[in-house]
Amino acid sequence: MALIVQKFGGTSVATVERIKNVAQRVARWKKQGHDIIVVPSAMSGETNRLIGLAKDISDSPDPRELDVIASTGEQVTVGLLALALQSEGLKAKSYTGAQVKVLTNSVFTKARILQIDDSKIRHDLTNGYVVVVAGFQGADEEGNITTLGRGGSDTSAVALAAALNADECQIYTDVDGVYTTDPRVVPEARKLDTITFEEMLEMASLGSKVLQIRSVEFAGKYKVKLRVLSSFDDEGEGTLITIEEDKNMEHPIISGIAFNRDEAKLTILGVPDLPGIAYKILGPIADANIDVDMIIQNVGQDGTTDFSFTVNRADYTAGLEILKATATAMNARGVVGDNKTCKVSGVGVGMRSHPGVASKMFKVLASEGINIQMISTSEIKISVVIEEKYLELAVRVLHKAFGLDKSE
Ligand code: ASP
Ligand code: MG
Repeated sequence: MALIVQKFGGTSVATVERIKNVAQRVARWKKQGHDIIVVPSAMSGETNRLIGLAKDISDSPDPRELDVIASTGEQVTVGLLALALQSEGLKAKSYTGAQVKVLTNSVFTKARILQIDDSKIRHDLTNGYVVVVAGFQGADEEGNITTLGRGGSDTSAVALAAALNADECQIYTDVDGVYTTDPRVVPEARKLDTITFEEMLEMASLGSKVLQIRSVEFAGKYKVKLRVLSSFDDEGEGTLITIEEDKNMEHPIISGIAFNRDEAKLTILGVPDLPGIAYKILGPIADANIDVDMIIQNVGQDGTTDFSFTVNRADYTAGLEILKATATAMNARGVVGDNKTCKVSGVGVGMRSHPGVASKMFKVLASEGINIQMISTSEIKISVVIEEKYLELAVRVLHKAFGLDKSE
């Protein structure tokens, strides 16, 4: 008998019919004698709809109220799922994040989980209940409702698995595993049986939307066994995210091509080339809770330099405003922005032992006439920022060039 956390994404609970299907699947596991915690997302499209309602009232809604509104999507699905489980003859009980309690900090719309009180859940499990916990949400010290950022129910599931020391955290979604790239862009993409945490982290952070990145970080840190599976077919082992790479296995040089459309580039021109400048530029950006991804500082010639960085496209306007204020304060030459960029990356632990991956990547892009605007590398990843209109082309040619196409 095992303790299993099963997370079901929005498409898996999109209709009452599908919720009933989920209940049947959960019932099969429960009848095998396992203890089950289920974490559903909101019905697909629902969170967008709720946020849309708020935006119909205000262009920049108060984040505290936004969380009160957005969190209700999951409150509906936990209740419905508990009912569906009861119809399967099981004992089932639902909780919102605040009821559990999933304690978070107070950064509304992007809160982080600090602690989970497992007492109610343990008590219910001991008494034979399937426990259904709303994903995506928690509450802060004061009891304010918070949400964990888009896609946050993955993180809820992993955090619950970590807190309760579960044997496995299963993420059921509309794909049957993690692919070498998005099959909608490259139909030749292949499903991976395993991927290391490190690779998955890079893939997730680079915009492969299968899992929210924070959930992967969490799982790596607390050594939660994490598996991505389809909720639509009963066959298949999905993709297991492994702690260690298998040293005995021959790894492909590149395991996948990831991409992120939501990248925007900001540049401040002609800033003094002095110690402390990067901090002066990025400090206010960080204070506004805007995540910075790639950073490039050119070599200065006349005692000044240009400084570019990328942010999520949703933060583009806010970032630009902040940077303009910084430019004025620093007497910089100006600010330019581009929100029609994207990022494409090759990821693979095999890169560690194979030189020449970067040059091959640049050659492939050059042969398609794709200009590279920014480059960054890590031990297991090479990323480039390019014009958004080349995204599909770049992903396709790189996927093929690195031998990832299905036929090869
Ligand atoms: N319902 C939330 C969202 O759409 C959380 C999730 O689905 O993971 O972002
Ligand atoms: Mg999701």
